Amino acid sequence: MTTVFVNGACGRMGQAVLKAVQEDKDLTLVGACDIHGGADTGSLVGLPANGVLVETDLAAALARLQPEVMIDFTRPDVVFDNVMTALAHKVSPVVGTTGLSEEQKSEIRKAAEVNNTPAFIAPNFAIGAVLLMVLSKQAAKYMPDVEIIELHHDNKLDAPSGTAIQTAAMIAEVRAEHKQGHPDEKEKLSGARGADYEGMHIHSVRLPGYVAHQEVIFGGLGQTLTIRHDSLNRESFMPGVCLAAKKVRGLRGLTIGLDQLLEF
Ligand code: NAP
Repeated sequence: MTTVFVNGACGRMGQAVLKAVQEDKDLTLVGACDIHGGADTGSLVGLPANGVLVETDLAAALARLQPEVMIDFTRPDVVFDNVMTALAHKVSPVVGTTGLSEEQKSEIRKAAEVNNTPAFIAPNFAIGAVLLMVLSKQAAKYMPDVEIIELHHDNKLDAPSGTAIQTAAMIAEVRAEHKQGHPDEKEKLSGARGADYEGMHIHSVRLPGYVAHQEVIFGGLGQTLTIRHDSLNRESFMPGVCLAAKKVRGLRGLTIGLDQLLEF
């Protein structure tokens, strides 16, 4: 049994996590936090009331409850402080919140080592999205001209998505950096060609109706290859979140990406 604390418990992902943790026989929900506190973590998600209430003071709750794992789905502007608070209390963070900078990730790596407490971050917990990233890295060896289109609901705060950045980073491991498109191309409207990651262009679509979707398009002589993944609802992330919660205490330092917990 792994004891779990859920941060951001009242949010869209937080509520899905609360339900998944309570329904997983190998996980025990011991506490939760959100800036909107007070609710019972069972009745909040349509399960029987369990007496575990959502609190508002993360440090105080972690100090009192001493869970093994804190799952965080909050906001890009608060996730770093949450993770550092968890590590200071020797609680292993499992982080789904996107938007952490490279500098923040290296601070987290140091804090995980100093506190001898493993940490885990995944920009995408859906197995299909992990496969999309792994397959994209393979395809880029043979088709190095690639653009990424990510599509999300219009309440998402960060762009491009963590998944798009992680996909580009994985492709960059096998693709020599080069500029794509015509050498003399000019944007007539700023941003028309999207963000630039070592010459790969990333385009972010934000519309009501979407959950989380991504296409990776490879272009070659007389052909294109498109790899696409669609998360149709937030349940798609839950097997990955629960797997990470069960495995994180057996890791060392900071681990990034669900692919690190799977065998390929
Ligand atoms: P959301 O619905 O806005 O939920 C975030 C919750 O955290 C809200 O209730 C928010 O309150 C609360 N919160 C804000 N500041 C807090 C703090 N300091 N301490 C505790 N709780 C706080 O967002 P969401 O759609 O669930 O997404 C959350 C994050 O997960 C985003 O970064 C998103 O990109 C990411 N995500 C990751 C994956 C993955 O697989 N890794 C999948 C989906 C989403 P307010 O509403 O008042 O701010």
